[in-house]
Amino acid sequence: MPGFAKRMSKAKTSTIMQVADKARELSKQGRDIISFSIGVPNFLPAHHVYEAAHKAVDGDVGTYLPGRGTEELVKAFVARMADKGLPYSEKEVVVAVGGKHALFHLLFAMLNVGDEVIIPAPYWTSYPDMVEINDGTPKIVPCGPEQNYKLTPAQLEAAITPKTKALLFNNPNNPTGMVYTRDEIKALGDVLEKHDIWVISDDIYDRMIFDGEKFHHLLHTNPALRDRVACVQSISKNYGMPGWRVGMVAGPLPLIAKMLDLNSASITNVNNISMAAATAAFGGPQDFVQESMKSFETRRNIVVEALAHIPGVHCPRPQGAFYAFPDVSKYYGKTHQGEKITDDVALCNLLLERKGLAVVPGSAFGEPRGLRISYSCPEAQLRKGLQLLADFFAEVRKEAGEHAA
Ligand code: PLP
Repeated sequence: MPGFAKRMSKAKTSTIMQVADKARELSKQGRDIISFSIGVPNFLPAHHVYEAAHKAVDGDVGTYLPGRGTEELVKAFVARMADKGLPYSEKEVVVAVGGKHALFHLLFAMLNVGDEVIIPAPYWTSYPDMVEINDGTPKIVPCGPEQNYKLTPAQLEAAITPKTKALLFNNPNNPTGMVYTRDEIKALGDVLEKHDIWVISDDIYDRMIFDGEKFHHLLHTNPALRDRVACVQSISKNYGMPGWRVGMVAGPLPLIAKMLDLNSASITNVNNISMAAATAAFGGPQDFVQESMKSFETRRNIVVEALAHIPGVHCPRPQGAFYAFPDVSKYYGKTHQGEKITDDVALCNLLLERKGLAVVPGSAFGEPRGLRISYSCPEAQLRKGLQLLADFFAEVRKEAGEHAA
């Protein structure tokens, strides 16, 4: 065999998928498994989205389409961005096969060998892999529970070196559910204004914000950054359409030109049916999105309440997306039925094997003190899973001779 490119040594299956695979395997063996492991929003888009997809099939004329996206999609997306106070022209946007592909192409377009990309941790598990496959060096900045999992301006300033090429910024955040306030964004923006680096703003959870809070963006607080900010969007989370694979990027013209070149060299265009569905999602009535968000907020409250009652578990309050990231490290070194909980991976394995509960170890996100709970499952299942979690920790405390709090 002639061998593979060196960069492929960096590619690996995500830990999240490994947990999901193991849970599926146990399920197949007849075990009753509750999964808090996967980042899929459990709602479907409204009827008008499916109608648009059917129409696209019926009206198909059997040809390639523009690499930027259909005119209708581009228009609908630009209008939605303008609603968010992010005005872009139709020439400043481009489609991708999901947000993941958009991020991959952005890094492909930006990075040379050894360029550093700042990634605040906890981070979405694919970020460092994507940077490495594209010859960059992830510069991980730990932002633990003691600072509510948020990057501070001082940390950002300290992380920037002559080799820094980009910051990967995700708000609302996967895996922590954290949402930056306007002041926090502004403070980061002020640091960024001083340094000529790219900012990849992964905004794909921007509709999923609770407690009446608003979505704030670097370009709201620091419009001077417009020439070097790429806004990444997707229909996967906000619209409950992960399988349709449509992502969008809005950014400065020269960057979008590179993205168009990459689409031309790799995918030609995103498929017609998905683009028609995405057009309907961006451009049609938005009430199904609002309804779904209310239900996520209710479930967020259930999770926060349940975790608050587990002694030794600390969970900075998530205000967006559909994840909670409790710090469970006080339980490391203790035992469950005689078996030592050495770390987050051991804990998650025990939870899955002994309680049938699948959660993702925090080390998959660069923060081994925590674990990620994805609460996008029906409420009854959520309550049952949280009870299993509470039972597990109660058993560990009992084994350690600790009294119930
Ligand atoms: N960015 C973040 C933070 C995510 O959590 C995900 C998916 O889980 C993505 C990007 C990619 O989403 P998609 O490719 O489905 O648009």
